[in-house]
Amino acid sequence: MIYQNTLAFAKNLDEQDEIKDFRTKFFIPQHNGRDTVYLTGNSLGLQPKSTAAYIQQELNDWANLGVEGHFHAKNPWMPYHEIFPKQLSKIVGALEEEVVVMNQLTVNLHLLMVSFYQPTAQRYKIICEAKAFPSDQYAIESQVRFHGLNYEDAVIEVEPREGEHTIREEDILNTIEQNKDSVALVLFGGVNYYTGQVFNIKNITEASHKVGALVGFDFAHATGNINLQLHNWNVDFACWCSYKYLNSGPGGVAGAFIHQKHITNKKLKRFAGWWGYNKETRFKMERGFIPIPTAEGWQLSNAPVLSMAAHKAALDIFDEVGMDRLHKKRKLLSSFVLFILDDINQKSNTQTIEIITPRNENEIGCQVSMLMLKNGKQIFNALMQQGVIADWREPNVIRIAPVPLYNSFEDVWKFGDIIKQIV
Ligand SMILES: *Cc1c(COP(=O)(O)O)cnc(C)c1O
Repeated sequence: MIYQNTLAFAKNLDEQDEIKDFRTKFFIPQHNGRDTVYLTGNSLGLQPKSTAAYIQQELNDWANLGVEGHFHAKNPWMPYHEIFPKQLSKIVGALEEEVVVMNQLTVNLHLLMVSFYQPTAQRYKIICEAKAFPSDQYAIESQVRFHGLNYEDAVIEVEPREGEHTIREEDILNTIEQNKDSVALVLFGGVNYYTGQVFNIKNITEASHKVGALVGFDFAHATGNINLQLHNWNVDFACWCSYKYLNSGPGGVAGAFIHQKHITNKKLKRFAGWWGYNKETRFKMERGFIPIPTAEGWQLSNAPVLSMAAHKAALDIFDEVGMDRLHKKRKLLSSFVLFILDDINQKSNTQTIEIITPRNENEIGCQVSMLMLKNGKQIFNALMQQGVIADWREPNVIRIAPVPLYNSFEDVWKFGDIIKQIV
């Protein structure tokens, strides 16, 4: 499509957008009595208008039924989490038995590493991305130390090359190959939180398996954003949070994927809790852990129902819209952002913005990260003052993520227009 950097053109795209009405299902934060241009759905997705009623239902049942709500609530709490695999399996491309909703993201990352990072004297290394999200770095560091190893020796970070911002796929694949006898686990993000780079999950998985390593992913910035086919790509495990692209509320309950080939493997170690115990006999409360033969076997605690109610409200919207339509609009939105930023650069005397997110369609999701070559803070402040919510990362990067569920092409145009005025 040939884009134009005009309001009329943006409005025309909105008119043609077959999922434009989904925006009305969300509360849009306000600024001076008007809708903000909310471009931080990669940090905290917006609240569906339906969320309150879903939570209120559980509050009512708790008020009216007390403990009996476990069995007699409208959505009984005992099996509450069982509604999610059906919905999430479509979002992450999994079988239902491979998906579980539980805990928080970093907790799940630890639990999965307990199962899938089993270093031996020969095979003990972890290959990960340099500058992964800090929580992931700390999780990896503490896991390595937990096994009595030291970080410098056991962890290999794949970095961008000198003068580049993103990591070349060939460098990832070569690092795996070069460490083929010592790598135990390859652990990557699906989408880098800083640059917005989408990694080639399928190729990284294949390369890891070829050398005999296991492979897992943190999909915090990928789930609900990019196309995922975890089962077919043969990914060993993955985890994600629900409050970014999944719109399920601050600190909301998280999710995990464990490939079918592992879920009944009795040799895998795990940290266990009663909610992972075989359902038929759980309440006999006997000694000796017998896991549920699905990803649910990794659960520890009984379900946080209020948080799950918010998750349910959000996922019902995903069901309604369908991932195909989201992917289609996402691609149009992010190419419109790139077009507008290029247009701004071209019309100014010197380049103001360097786009560090890859432009290749397979390496970009919702997020576009901009390295501000001049006036960065000034531009960011102007955006915020005029009701455009973006994200500033030191030293000089602005991240934005137009989200197909609730952002419009007009949002993107307005954002560009403010930058244009300053440049
Ligand atoms: C957002 C994010 C987290 C946050 O972890 P929580 O356990 O949910 O606080 C961790 N890792 C990545 C890659 C993230 O993007």
